[in-house]
Amino acid sequence: MRALTFHGKGDIRCESVPDPAIEDPRDAVIKVSACAICGSDLHIYDGVIPQMKNGDVLGHETMGEVVEIGASVKKLKVGDRVVVPFTISCGECYFCEHGFYSACERTNPDHAKAETLWGHSPAGLFGYSHLLGGYRGGQAEYLRVPHADSGPIKVPQNLSDDQALFLSDIFPTGYMAAEFCDIKGGETIAVWGCGPVGQFAIRSAFMLGAERVIAIDHIPERLALAEKAGAETLDFHKVDIYEAINSMTKGRGADACIDAVGTEPDPTGSIDSFIDRVKVAAFLGTDQPHVLRQAVHCCRNFGTVSVVGVYGGFIDKFPMGSAINRGLTFRMAQTPVQRYLPRLLERIEKGDIDPSFVVTHRGTLEEGPDLYKTFRNRKDGCIKVVLQP
Ligand code: NAD
Ligand code: ZN
Ligand code: ZN
Repeated sequence: MRALTFHGKGDIRCESVPDPAIEDPRDAVIKVSACAICGSDLHIYDGVIPQMKNGDVLGHETMGEVVEIGASVKKLKVGDRVVVPFTISCGECYFCEHGFYSACERTNPDHAKAETLWGHSPAGLFGYSHLLGGYRGGQAEYLRVPHADSGPIKVPQNLSDDQALFLSDIFPTGYMAAEFCDIKGGETIAVWGCGPVGQFAIRSAFMLGAERVIAIDHIPERLALAEKAGAETLDFHKVDIYEAINSMTKGRGADACIDAVGTEPDPTGSIDSFIDRVKVAAFLGTDQPHVLRQAVHCCRNFGTVSVVGVYGGFIDKFPMGSAINRGLTFRMAQTPVQRYLPRLLERIEKGDIDPSFVVTHRGTLEEGPDLYKTFRNRKDGCIKVVLQP
């Protein structure tokens, strides 16, 4: 089959790789009808995610038709149309039973490596680092789905692929980011990053009852889409974000701040920046502008900082003094997608949200490498790319 593969920083190729097959009785194989490129894939593209290997198949936002099932799969049958969470979860361990699917203790075969780095191991993920299982991803014609009874959900026929696909990741992620803010009604929520995840966080904050959303980015098309959802927008190249949020909130700060950016390559263009920037900052003692630090400073006392932007490793110069003195709450996670699927599918079916609003670009797998570039460089108004193998 054809698939998008990783070959080092900035080098994604469309290649022929062996077809996946059932390897365990709990597996299913799906024929991919649509898969998306995520901001998390850009961290791989930018070379900031450790333990990627040449030839790894990318992609973790996938849907399609079940074409094969293992002997013990009960909930799916051949022909079902499903969307697949990016988190691979057994559904039976301590963490899955408590709804912490992205911490499943049975789906990361490389858990020892992850434990060395992080203390404990999270779940395996599709198309990501070998610290997270090194599973093949879904930017391909076919995808093997382990633990098929606890991941994929069936998609109603009246929903298009564009309406259902983002249940795999970015809709639950944006929703979780807003849910972390503990919105009771009337709050002001600030959202850093108006990429696809930020867009879903903005809309979810309003769905959960926020009165105001302040959305921060510098890309006109993304700010415009945030405005369309009712957000007030700030361009971080044009205004001092701290000053602006203060003046919009009578000097109090935002009730909660969402980081939907994560690790970003240097805005001046060099891609190596993340690790180097930290080293340089540590060496020179300079205070590099950083979304997370800004989110802490802009949050009102006893407010919440909700982090869904992905960070590859360590971040330095974290303003712990500000957080303890002002009673901030931090919440963050790789989304336990399975926890959110039924209720968000219901939201889509009820018409509360149509997730297809985010799609701007579309192409085949062969066009995938170019579309990675377009999405990374945020060219041509690109917000979200959907590939149709
Ligand atoms: P994206 O790269 O398309 O969007 C990031 C946006 O942040 C861009 O529009 C960029 O201009 C903006 N940005 C950069 N620096 C900024 C700054 N200083 N202030 C404000 N905005 C700034 O990515 P995306 O697909 O929207 O994903 C966003 C983040 O969410 C990524 O880090 C991704 O890895 C992460 N993510 C996390 C999960 C999870 O489970 N926690 C799931 C999906 C994605
Ligand atoms: Zn993703
Ligand atoms: Zn589990």
